[in-house]
Amino acid sequence: MKNAGVIGAGIGGLAVAIRLARMGWKVVVYEKAEKAGGKLNELQAGGFRFDKGPSLFTLPHLLDELLDDDLRIPYRKLDVVTRYFYEDGSVINAYADPHRFAKEVSEKTSDSSESVLKYLKKASFIYRVTATIFIFSSFHRLSKLITLPNLWRALQLPRIQALAKLHRKNKASFSDPRLVQLFDRFATYNGSNPYEAPATLQVIAHLEHNLGAYFPDRGMYAIATALQKQAERSGVEFHFTTPVQKVLAGGEGPKALLIGGQQHDFDLVVSDVDVRYFYDKLLMDVGRFRELKKQEPSSSAMIFYWGMKRQYQELDLHNIFFSENYANEFECLFRRKTICDDPTVYVYVSSKQNPDDAPPEMENWFVMVNAPVNSGQNWQNLISKTRKQIVLKLERMLKASVNEQIVAEHVLDPLQIESLTSSVGGAIYGASSNSLFAAFRRHPNVRKDLPGVYFVGGSVHPGGGIPLCLASAKIAADLIKEKEGSYA
Ligand code: FAD
Repeated sequence: MKNAGVIGAGIGGLAVAIRLARMGWKVVVYEKAEKAGGKLNELQAGGFRFDKGPSLFTLPHLLDELLDDDLRIPYRKLDVVTRYFYEDGSVINAYADPHRFAKEVSEKTSDSSESVLKYLKKASFIYRVTATIFIFSSFHRLSKLITLPNLWRALQLPRIQALAKLHRKNKASFSDPRLVQLFDRFATYNGSNPYEAPATLQVIAHLEHNLGAYFPDRGMYAIATALQKQAERSGVEFHFTTPVQKVLAGGEGPKALLIGGQQHDFDLVVSDVDVRYFYDKLLMDVGRFRELKKQEPSSSAMIFYWGMKRQYQELDLHNIFFSENYANEFECLFRRKTICDDPTVYVYVSSKQNPDDAPPEMENWFVMVNAPVNSGQNWQNLISKTRKQIVLKLERMLKASVNEQIVAEHVLDPLQIESLTSSVGGAIYGASSNSLFAAFRRHPNVRKDLPGVYFVGGSVHPGGGIPLCLASAKIAADLIKEKEGSYA
């Protein structure tokens, strides 16, 4: 039986392990943390349970297709995807149902319901044109891409305005600045700047409003738990608190991982770690690391996990409290490498859907602002400054006390994201999409000059976020089947 060594039990690592085990490979996963999940993790504190990283779940069928029926997790489609709060006191509910959302927009903004429906229709079209090529194919292998349906898709490319920037596109689509800001925000879903990122990111609106956003009944960490159970059932062997120290992978032939000073040989290796960390620390390929460092990293995050001793009827599951000057926010993040004085604040309250996540009459708040990657900032100062600003903003916009209701607190900053997950600088999604050609520059799932080494996870093709990490695992497994064989 041929064997595969997987580095990292993040979403991509878990998913590829399941796929390879089903193909008849003997799979061993090495994870430096005590448990699986990577960025998708959870935290228990003072009687509260918090999802630590991802909170928004889309394209759930990509998870379902990996799990046996009895391991599938229950999840429900959200009625309101996000509740948006503005400093002028207005509140827009982004309903999952496009017509209801469009009605809400026509009632609360200067834009018409038709403008929203037209925008979402276009987003759906972009998905049809781009998803097969840019999300579900290896993309870096021309031979795989030359098919009749792809020829049709290629002919449609001029219609999707691939060379426009998202903010410009949104400004051309809507007259109300609140709506422009709402749709600009989708660029942050892969850690990018809407003023630089391509208009094709409009496609994310399709995922939320046409296909739907979901919530797993027991919270997001249930996704990692289910994948791990499935992997174990499929015969995957896990080693936790076992960091890989080095990858020995030059040329053809077997690969090896150095673990605890011992060499372990494999027929192939799959990396689920941040690809820049892979080259810098594990393969020690200085040239490739330098080349990747030229790509602008995605943003990181600063998160406050607050146990609140009361409930807030004004809040939904996902809530956004927008900044007044969105352009300045991204200028701060990507140019000045700091957090601006009035950041947009995201508040996720999983206890709204799963009351077990907080004691009775209380709520668990996951309060996040986008942060720059670590480049030596004074994070203690930034944390205390940002905390004060968030509290003031939420108290002002909710017209309610916040600070004195906090009974449990934990903070995560880019430094900790880096030390916990090995993502260089704490970048959440690898490279940003702050360039029209970012998708083409993303690291592939396999490279000719590194035979027997495959890449999955949020820092490689097709990108970050749970659905794309799951897609990366499918692409890598298909490539392995074709190049190295399947033994099932
Ligand atoms: P990672 O999660 O990066 O895991 C890599 C694993 O490798 C880790 O477990 C790490 O411990 C391990 N590792 C590192 N070095 C070594 C080593 N030397 N040896 C062995 N193991 C090692 N996505 C969404 O879809 N929706 C969201 O709402 C969303 N929100 C997010 C919010 C936050 C705050 C964060 C941090 C992320 C969010 N994401 C979201 C992104 C999503 O979490 C990631 O894209 C995805 O989980 C990354 O998975 P991955 O496969 O790349 O592995």
